[in-house]
Amino acid sequence: MMTKSLTNDVLTQWDHDHFFHPSTHLGQFARRDVGNRIVKTADGVHITDREGRTSLDAFAGLYCVNVGYGRSEIADAIAEQAHELAYYHAYVGHGTEASVTLSRMIAERAPEGMNHVYYGMGGSDANETNIKLVWYYNNVLGRPKKKKIISRWRGYHGSGLVTGSLTGLELFHKKFDLPLEQVLHTQAPYYFRRKDRSMSEAEFSADCAAKLEEMILREGADTIAAFIGEPILGTGGIVPPPEGYWSAIQAVLEKYDILLIADEVITGFGRLGTMMGSEHYGLKPDLITIAKGLTSAYAPLSGSIVSDKMWAVLEKGTDEFGPIGHGWTYSAHPIGAAAGVANLKLLDSLNLVSNAGTVGKYLNTAMADALGGHAHVGDVRGEGMMCAVELMKDRDDHIFFDAADKVVPRIVAAMLERGVIARAMPQGDIIGFAPPFSLTKEQVDEIVGVTQASIAEVLGG
Ligand code: PLP
Repeated sequence: MMTKSLTNDVLTQWDHDHFFHPSTHLGQFARRDVGNRIVKTADGVHITDREGRTSLDAFAGLYCVNVGYGRSEIADAIAEQAHELAYYHAYVGHGTEASVTLSRMIAERAPEGMNHVYYGMGGSDANETNIKLVWYYNNVLGRPKKKKIISRWRGYHGSGLVTGSLTGLELFHKKFDLPLEQVLHTQAPYYFRRKDRSMSEAEFSADCAAKLEEMILREGADTIAAFIGEPILGTGGIVPPPEGYWSAIQAVLEKYDILLIADEVITGFGRLGTMMGSEHYGLKPDLITIAKGLTSAYAPLSGSIVSDKMWAVLEKGTDEFGPIGHGWTYSAHPIGAAAGVANLKLLDSLNLVSNAGTVGKYLNTAMADALGGHAHVGDVRGEGMMCAVELMKDRDDHIFFDAADKVVPRIVAAMLERGVIARAMPQGDIIGFAPPFSLTKEQVDEIVGVTQASIAEVLGG
């Protein structure tokens, strides 16, 4: 192959000249203040770049390579599908054995009463689909005003126009003229950052529910269509919900006939040690967003799982208004579907969901034991194979570092030097971990040791 003969210097030059990288500081990249990394191979929980540097990927790419790298079962399924039928569309009743089988497998793993799947390519477009389905649903029911969507500050739901609006992080709004006016944001379920320090977790959950209800009453319940949330906040800081949060929120939604969209792009298919995050926290959603863990990122594929309640209305709508006017060329792409089937089979045959639960618990406990006493560690939290360490300038007086100090970016860079990839989460000094489910306890020990040493290097202690 031609590219194999390129030197690293040429590739780096072309990279800087032509590649528009997502979520990248373009000026710094152009000036080469931040370097590039051309990744070449991967195996298990490790990636290796063209320079020959190997790193333990404690973030599974972007919380997505759940079964780990280099699984030939999935690569073979993709190759077989590509040889047999690389593409055919899914419009007007078309499909493949893989897309039909995958739909059945998803329905078997989804909460009861959720039996239909609409496919997309990534989490953002799946959430765009969800919002369109919600609007369509209320139009069919003759409620044209009931259209606003409530999301949370620090929620992450994608980078599109509606989904970038749903995302409750400043960077995704600023200078993009977002959020759109149909989207509102309510309080983040972030107990550690509560304003009133005297509140118990249960009181804080009640406060989140009360603020949601105030917003609904202020706007008018007849204008609010849906609430969207991740079972556990992901990109907004890896924050498990405080005690009683979801039951309090769901009671408000039921009271005002507001749909619940559970965004399980991260939690779907095992990351919390249970098949779905909805099951983990007792959510009863009307729509579930799935992506990353559906194929473990071996091919791009996402989905919206639709409840029977919504499905009945959608079906009725098409009887009245004709076929659903919503379609992507690559919906249920055969290669993605084949990867999905092989991936879900692998999760089962290797018991990986249960491993995510057991080793995830070990990760969270080991991290808390090693770092909980550090003068600059304010919080160690997580659930399943998700873990976060939040740093503070002064933890007794609850004072955060200045963003300009770049404390966590420096720690994460020090970790990389020691061979471990963690993520500097946006909006706060938070180190994030979301490793592949195949992680071993020995690898946890390595991650924790490297984190401890790197924090000590940057902050002392
Ligand atoms: N929803 C959640 C919870 C996510 O974490 C992400 C991505 O990280 C998305 C949606 C968007 O998915 P994508 O980047 O595939 O569009």
